[in-house]
Amino acid sequence: MRIRLVLPLLALLAAFGTAAAAPVAADPVQVMAASDACYSWGRTLAQGASGEDVRQLQIRVSGYPGYGGVLALDGQFGPGTKAAVTRFQQAYGLAADGIAGPATFGKIYQLQDDDCTPVNFTYAELNRCNSDWSGGNVPAATAKANALVSMWKLQAMRHAMGDRPIVVNGGFRSVACNNAVGGAAASRHLYGDAVDLGAGTQGFCGLAREARNHGFAEILGPGYPDHSDHTHVAHRSTRFWSASSCGI
Ligand SMILES: [Zn+2]
Repeated sequence: MRIRLVLPLLALLAAFGTAAAAPVAADPVQVMAASDACYSWGRTLAQGASGEDVRQLQIRVSGYPGYGGVLALDGQFGPGTKAAVTRFQQAYGLAADGIAGPATFGKIYQLQDDDCTPVNFTYAELNRCNSDWSGGNVPAATAKANALVSMWKLQAMRHAMGDRPIVVNGGFRSVACNNAVGGAAASRHLYGDAVDLGAGTQGFCGLAREARNHGFAEILGPGYPDHSDHTHVAHRSTRFWSASSCGI
């Protein structure tokens, strides 16, 4: 985010430095180059586009797949990505055309920290087990990447619930950490994408219900064994939601 402040300043200096009083127009190319230290998009993305820049966009809008949906992070800008971009734009009051251009990327830049995590979540709170993401069921880099996606889903969920803080009690576990807390052998915590949420102001059931709209294929909460004191959200290949005390 920090670098975004520099360009307007440079533009201001440039304006003072030239006798020609031509106003510094909002040049879309310049706006897109503004970005931040995490990731910069260099072109407008619309349905039909493909590439790593599409996949980076998909990660940022993964919390907007619609009820029960999970957005594929495949680098292919199809109808699902367009719908997710549209929902993201609607959520932030942008022109909702499903095309990711300077306004959409500008909002993403505002929402992300220099390490690519969304501003209201950190790698540290998603991993209270170790510092290097090792020892789980996937390579450390995969576990960390999975956690990043879950954080973007949580950021969407947080915004949808009025931007109140969401309490994170933990995420990634190595096999050793998982055994120490008596976690299931196939726990998604071993993959880095599971997050255990505290009640916060939203309540366990409020969180579990809202999570259905934000790309979490696994939701466990009150009524599911050992989940009376937290709501668990994660990714998985097929949907499994269970929180009977919440009507889920
Ligand atoms: Zn859990």
